[in-house]
Amino acid sequence: MTERKPVRVAHPDLAEAKVSANAVTVVDSLRNAGYQAYLVGGCVRDLLLGGTPKDFDVATDATPQEVKTVFPRARLIGRRFRIAHVRFRREFIEVSTFRRRNEDDDDQADANHLSADGVLLSDNVYGTLDEDAFRRDFTVNALYYDPVEDTVLDYTSGLEDIETRTLRTIGEPEERLREDPVRILRAMRFAAKLGFDLDPGTRDAIAPMSELLTAIPPARLFDEFNKLFMNGHAVAAWSLMWEFGLPEILFPLSEEDDGLVRAALESTDGRVAEDKPVTPGFLLAAMCWPEFQRRTALSATANNAADERLKAAHSVIGEQQLTIAFPRRLSMFIRDVWRLQSSLERRPPRNLKRTLAHPRFRAAYDFLVLRAETGEADPELAQWWTDVQETSGEDGGSTAVPSRPAGRRRRRRRGRGRPNPEPAP
Ligand code: ATP
Ligand code: MG
Repeated sequence: MTERKPVRVAHPDLAEAKVSANAVTVVDSLRNAGYQAYLVGGCVRDLLLGGTPKDFDVATDATPQEVKTVFPRARLIGRRFRIAHVRFRREFIEVSTFRRRNEDDDDQADANHLSADGVLLSDNVYGTLDEDAFRRDFTVNALYYDPVEDTVLDYTSGLEDIETRTLRTIGEPEERLREDPVRILRAMRFAAKLGFDLDPGTRDAIAPMSELLTAIPPARLFDEFNKLFMNGHAVAAWSLMWEFGLPEILFPLSEEDDGLVRAALESTDGRVAEDKPVTPGFLLAAMCWPEFQRRTALSATANNAADERLKAAHSVIGEQQLTIAFPRRLSMFIRDVWRLQSSLERRPPRNLKRTLAHPRFRAAYDFLVLRAETGEADPELAQWWTDVQETSGEDGGSTAVPSRPAGRRRRRRRGRGRPNPEPAP
């Protein structure tokens, strides 16, 4: 293939922007060793948008081994493809070698990289700078910044799309989404996070390709789940996903108008904004809760209720795990939060002290507050638990109990905003 030329645009403003000095050091050192090196991807996009990149990626023609010769302290990591992590005191810079797409399935060597239905199986084939640009997902993610010359290299009209705030796949949308259907979820994430519009061609390709998400390994979907919902833009991502029916594929037990899920998403966004820890377990617990409720309502009788609830929890969590493989500690978190709802519904519970001391009490309480806010649990009950914690906190954790429900008094806010999903340990 003949080399394609980029548009080069001077961007002196980026030199003063929040570019990591360590990233510039990495670029300089690679260049001094005779290699090409640029900042690339999300960091360039975010700098151009005036934001603060969360990390800095460098692209180079040096192989990971060669990067390691330049930076002996670099670690080579990655399963799908090898990248080098160059560690500094407070950050690490990800250095990846230029790669190219493997779309030519008439070529014997490359045929191995695409499955029969066109899904990209491996993209670990090194390439040139221009090939590296075209193998990327969206135009705004394929901009290269040269911190020495202060120029941006643009092969795909990404700069124009930054201007018009448009998210557009590079190349033919259906082909690119089929090649790696996770790009559908990446589109949701970037559109939600950046407040960008999807380009019409990209938008039209999403629904027809969305079924391909069922073929993605559930562990990769869990990674993507975290990126989608734990980045402070969960509410926007969720609404956008429903426009394409994606939750029906990924969360078959969830419902579009579920107020509890929305409240959990809002709470998660609020916590991210305040730099508080969040757990995906809390969201998953909310997404699967109505189905858990339905199943326990159908099966429970008075004397086997606890057993039946445990069985229902097990089967509901198991079904969700068919699409999104979350780790066992999260299944246990969800199960505990659900199980504690029954304890919290008794006022006072059988063993107040033990309930308050339960490692999941705080998460279960937060869950109860959301249920109360969305009309699914008694607000007075939630208030009672708020008061109990305040009382027991004041006298060193004794079992002092308010004598009656605290009525309509407002819950004292902990920090600003919504209740708090606890971090997973
Ligand atoms: P964020 O700020 O959320 O990290 P990002 O754009 O840096 O956003 P990453 O997932 O860190 O996203 O990926 C880094 C870059 O690698 C992207 O900008 C994109 O150019 C490329 N990339 C990542 N995943 C894919 C993919 N599935 N297909 C094609 N290109 C990808
Ligand atoms: Mg990144």
